Amino acid sequence: MAKRPFVAGNWKMHGTRAELGNITHVSIETETIDEVLVALCVPATLITRAVAASPGFLIGAQDIHHEPKGAFTGSVSAQMVKDAGAKLTIVGHSERRELLGETNAQVRAKAELAIDAGLKTILCVGESLAVRETGQALNFVGDQLDASLPDMVTAPIHLSIAYEPIWAIGTGKVPSAGDIEAMHARIREVLERRYGEGAASIRILYGGSVKGSNAADIFAIDGVDGALVGGASLAPDDFMPIVHAAAAAAKD
Ligand code: PEP
Repeated sequence: MAKRPFVAGNWKMHGTRAELGNITHVSIETETIDEVLVALCVPATLITRAVAASPGFLIGAQDIHHEPKGAFTGSVSAQMVKDAGAKLTIVGHSERRELLGETNAQVRAKAELAIDAGLKTILCVGESLAVRETGQALNFVGDQLDASLPDMVTAPIHLSIAYEPIWAIGTGKVPSAGDIEAMHARIREVLERRYGEGAASIRILYGGSVKGSNAADIFAIDGVDGALVGGASLAPDDFMPIVHAAAAAAKD
């Protein structure tokens, strides 16, 4: 792996104070694993407590609103999650795009607000099974990414892209190594076209049913710089093997 791998967990709508110990556990175990950048994106309600319980560990949010502030009942802004202690946010997760109808333009606005706030940003893209079956996945994801990327003159240094095929999220299904490699290459092309040489610092993560049992194979694929992990990030015993696989890949 050319870059220091980044492994981020996405807890989704799971976790209360009772699970804070899982975050501390991961934070302590990763303290000595310098080869990997590790983060947990927790529910907004847990951010402040998680940061207090594990100072120095990278705690993230799972989403922010596409406007900086205003009459958006129930939403949280980039500045709010930063104020709560988050150093990172996910934007454009497919569950929000699909279930809540979030558009590429909104995802782009979120990414711009997150980057302006100084948050590391994981921008998610990915195709549905129907798109994959038409043979148009590369074009679909390339266009989706192009329309979701922040409009910045230079490359946003704290940006990562997560390629997450929707049909692989939480299903136990994973694309073939060749399909992941081809998609990451397409994403890299779009990044280079948009940001030139600056694109080199942007990591491209894979997400979708990453587990301890398949992580080493996924990290061995050309163009994979880490993983966004859902279900397997909830319990340290499931998450840490993925971090260790990334550390091993980084040493190769
Ligand atoms: C995700 O939701 O970002 C994800 C990758 O989920 P899972 O690992 O459970 O497939």
